[in-house]
Amino acid sequence: MSDCVFCKIIAGQIPSTRVHEDEHTLAFMDIGQVNPGHVLVTVKKHADNLYALDEVQAAAVARTSVRVARAIRDAYAPAGLSVYQANGQAAGQTVFHYHAHLVPRHADDGMALSWPVKNPPREKLEEYAGKIRAGLAKRSLA
Ligand code: AMP
Ligand code: ZN
Repeated sequence: MSDCVFCKIIAGQIPSTRVHEDEHTLAFMDIGQVNPGHVLVTVKKHADNLYALDEVQAAAVARTSVRVARAIRDAYAPAGLSVYQANGQAAGQTVFHYHAHLVPRHADDGMALSWPVKNPPREKLEEYAGKIRAGLAKRSLA
């Protein structure tokens, strides 16, 4: 079995706060210290980074990112949303399994990222995720 932490999350061996799952992608909440609670969009089949994505994975990541971003907008109406990812250690990548970060932004954030509030406690993540899941469900009915 792979040592990759995101592969373990995808396999359900490490618990995570899930927002969306489909055939190719899983979206869940980051529990890191810097801006906990923003959504990571990952591919279910391990790919080290952007360069390793195949065409199907690339399309699936874009679709999931757009859908989840719209549900975040519905739920929280942030002033903006940054989508970013790192490739390689020098760019700040720490987990080497492809993921995009969806980070809602507030008008007064400046360069600092604060989502959904500054330093949300971990026990709030399920509540934040629930609102995003509700938005996704509503949109898939529409
Ligand atoms: P990066 O540093 O861009 O590679 O992003 C990796 C992200 O994964 C960081 O923001 C970490 O906080 C996050 N992360 C690491 N381990 C976990 C985990 N077990 N559950 C959720 N997020 C994690
Ligand atoms: Zn992996």
